[in-house]
Amino acid sequence: MKILTKYTSLLLILFIFSANQIISDEHAHESKSNVNVLKTLLDGNQRFVSGKLQHPHQDHKTIVKNSKGQHPYAVIIACSDSRVPVETIFDQGVGDIFVIRTAGNVIGKIEMGSIQYAVEHLGVKFVGVMGHTDCGAIKAYASGSKGEGNIKDIIDHIADEAEEKEIPEPKHEHMDRCIYANIFHGTKQILNDPLITKVSTHHGKVEILPMLYDVKTGVVQVLDLDMKAPH
Ligand SMILES: [Zn+2]
Repeated sequence: MKILTKYTSLLLILFIFSANQIISDEHAHESKSNVNVLKTLLDGNQRFVSGKLQHPHQDHKTIVKNSKGQHPYAVIIACSDSRVPVETIFDQGVGDIFVIRTAGNVIGKIEMGSIQYAVEHLGVKFVGVMGHTDCGAIKAYASGSKGEGNIKDIIDHIADEAEEKEIPEPKHEHMDRCIYANIFHGTKQILNDPLITKVSTHHGKVEILPMLYDVKTGVVQVLDLDMKAPH
């Protein structure tokens, strides 16, 4: 009987150990490396483009799991354009991506504060600045529209970007270059933000990448800050 109790205790200890192991494995899964984050996003985009969506993390179990707290693995700043639904184009679900969307994916103080929150408090290490082809905000700016009311603020913001100023007139003849310039500006804004730099230095590198979504094909392309827009 004593031996049986000993075995029962041993089994119980082993069970508790395994359960802890499972919990810590789950956490390990949540903290993806930046290479894995990019792969997850691009693999999801490939599924979206090829019509082989898996709709991960969109079940009730995921909702319950995330109700205890969020652990997104990426921040994506995108345009509010209805053709750019971020979770859908990356085939991701609840709790995966911390999404910030504004017309023209412009980044002001509130958007920067949102990025800061995700990086500093949620521990996100991957930030994508994703513009898109045929962007109405960039088109409005490039065509010389001044905009009225609060729309003027968006166009003024784009017009103020040093990268846009470098593009020759008439700007509407260089739409792709204007779109790239805006993405690069947003990326550099975050790269040069002192608080993001501080977090990146103290808590491990935060990867900040420029990205482009093509509304005709559904494909997301990772850009390079040295890259020139196609003419
Ligand atoms: Zn847009």
